[in-house]
Amino acid sequence: MIALMFGPPGSGKGTQASRVAVRLGVPHVAAGDMLRDEVARDTALGREAKPIMDSGGLVPDDLVVRMIEGRLGQPDAISGVLLDGFPRTVPQAVTLDAMLGRRDTNVDDVVSLEVPDDELKARILKRATTEGRSDDTAEGLAQRLMVYRQDTAPVLDHYREAGTRIEAINGVGDIDAITERIIESLKHNGAAVGNS
Ligand code: AMP
Repeated sequence: MIALMFGPPGSGKGTQASRVAVRLGVPHVAAGDMLRDEVARDTALGREAKPIMDSGGLVPDDLVVRMIEGRLGQPDAISGVLLDGFPRTVPQAVTLDAMLGRRDTNVDDVVSLEVPDDELKARILKRATTEGRSDDTAEGLAQRLMVYRQDTAPVLDHYREAGTRIEAINGVGDIDAITERIIESLKHNGAAVGNS
């Protein structure tokens, strides 16, 4: 199964994607985590990405696409994957669709986590004190929300127009309960989901 975890910054997509991937038995491929790893290793990509990430902007499509393409070519990702934070622009989605089309596959499902803006802000500012992410500031969030609305929200329309199933999930509440909402919704779509 190839699924996307979609949602605004602070919606809990990273937390939920790592749990849901275990249940689906597929790798969790998180673009943001991969980019932070490049930054930590001080690679050429990391050096280019860091100032953009810190300002809340998007890393250029070609760099992110190359990074994800490499990851999707690894053996563990051949039979399925849960993508988190990618695609984040319509051109990234078009490239992903072409990449999957060459393998005779496609995106099966998009999970869209829905969380109101005031809750996003509260969560991001809380995360700033616990995780110390350099983009978790009030200004960083405002910029990332703007980018989300302008560049990323149209990705959902792209998949809706393609006829891909979209699971709209209420992302507010207990973390376990939200995971179960996602799993139930995916099961409804016929996904093979484990219990643990
Ligand atoms: P995230 O961990 O998903 O919140 O991503 C953190 C930051 O990494 C984003 O604010 C962007 O700067 C960058 N980033 C992550 N995924 C992408 C992507 N698909 N395209 C461009 N930039 C990305």
